[in-house]
Amino acid sequence: MSDSSKKEITDLHTRIQKLKEDLQTSKSAKMNAEQGNAKREKITKMSAEVVDSNPYSRLMALKRMGIVDDYERIREKTIIVVGVGGVGSIVADMLTRCGAGKLILFDYDKVELANMNRLFYQPHQSGLSKVEAAKDTLIHINPDVEFETHNMNITTMENFNKFVDRIRHGSLTGGKVDLVLSCVDNFEARMTINTACNEEMQIWMESGVSENAVSGHIQFIEPGRTACFACLPPLVVAMNIDEKTLKRDGVCAASLPTTMAVVAGFLVQNTLKYLLKFGEVSMYVGYNALNDFFPKESMLANPECDDKYCRKRQKEYKERIANEKVVEKEIVIESDQITHEDNDWGIELVEESAPEIKQETRKVAEGLQLLYDPVKHVEMESAETSSPAIDLSSLMAQLKEMNK
Ligand SMILES: [Zn+2]
Repeated sequence: MSDSSKKEITDLHTRIQKLKEDLQTSKSAKMNAEQGNAKREKITKMSAEVVDSNPYSRLMALKRMGIVDDYERIREKTIIVVGVGGVGSIVADMLTRCGAGKLILFDYDKVELANMNRLFYQPHQSGLSKVEAAKDTLIHINPDVEFETHNMNITTMENFNKFVDRIRHGSLTGGKVDLVLSCVDNFEARMTINTACNEEMQIWMESGVSENAVSGHIQFIEPGRTACFACLPPLVVAMNIDEKTLKRDGVCAASLPTTMAVVAGFLVQNTLKYLLKFGEVSMYVGYNALNDFFPKESMLANPECDDKYCRKRQKEYKERIANEKVVEKEIVIESDQITHEDNDWGIELVEESAPEIKQETRKVAEGLQLLYDPVKHVEMESAETSSPAIDLSSLMAQLKEMNK
């Protein structure tokens, strides 16, 4: 063997040795990281103890601050999150950190590099199913939360039944879940959730972000009480942007992590207020990012809704409130808190009244609009009532005939 060959072999040996060492280092770094993740043991009881090692101390402080009476109840709650994309993944993350009892995640998409402009997922998760990738991350953040994942599209008949079953039996005790959150990006999936929730008398909240990435909304839907998705066309934030720039085929929708995080934040805030009974649960909050405008609205269910379960729930709701004495929560505000005699800052306090229900006229709050025109029978109705040709007594007579 020549001298040069010998040298080559020695060099190769050295390189192999170096590679072996590098591999060992990276292996032990990975093991350390995994052990680090596993370090957070399950905690059987939420404590308010103020120590650096308590992941719940800041949440439990909400009780001491007088915001929430009984924060621990969050551990009994089960929430279904449909869609764990740009909004839903942050929603699931927030609920995990807040210590929710159980999260049931539905999605049929995979993580892609094209999602990296949003929060939560990481490049190394590309190709994994979103629900699995989400669970992998979340279980390390808070191992006290129970996770159930479904990598499926709920809009097919078979999967719809599975979805309904999880609403009915998904809770920690095998009963009904506490809330369904819609974080999907298409109308068909929203209507599927709407149908299931009307059938199951399940309260749910809807969220949406516009295709141009600069507006969004959240909506609270209680079957029989507030407008469902079949009652009225969806309410969206009016943007004064040419529709033609949005609706062309093949145009890629824009998205911003900022708008998605704002909408996710509103959705989880409303969720916490509803589940833990504090503050005021919003019926509808819009967000116009261009001028930082947050229009609010409230819509009652439409008695002529196309969804028969919605009409059934409306009847039940009417019966329920007729039987129950609905006691309005009295809000007492100390008068010296709101009137400042010497107002150096010139701040005026404007009394905010409860939002008006404007379903009859189909007019909505400033800055909001219905996605499309309501169905014709609404217009016919108003034409009839405004017609002077029909007198009231003949109408009453006709009504009597109908009721026989
Ligand atoms: Zn309806």
